[in-house]
Amino acid sequence: MAAICSVCGLPDELCMCEEIAKEQQQIRVYNDTRRYGKVVTIVDGLDASDIDIEELARTLKNRCAAGGTGKEGRIELQGEHRRKVKAVLEGMGYSAEVR
Ligand SMILES: [Zn+2]
Repeated sequence: MAAICSVCGLPDELCMCEEIAKEQQQIRVYNDTRRYGKVVTIVDGLDASDIDIEELARTLKNRCAAGGTGKEGRIELQGEHRRKVKAVLEGMGYSAEVR
């Protein structure tokens, strides 16, 4: 027997709840400047109850080949990676607003 989603009541293979939850997140990607003029790329608006922030931070660091940290709904990457981060997030089904 197929599992039934407790949110929408549809069988798991028809359930779109996870996709909808991903699309509803208001993720923002923008640059900030740190001491000594160092640019960092910030990803915030992440819902820590839906997203494993540490896992996502690891993925973004790998894809951008950059150092960074992820905690409390916010990921910080060293350097300017806005377009790459947006592309990676969209590839995972999230929508992201670049500022
Ligand atoms: Zn569902």
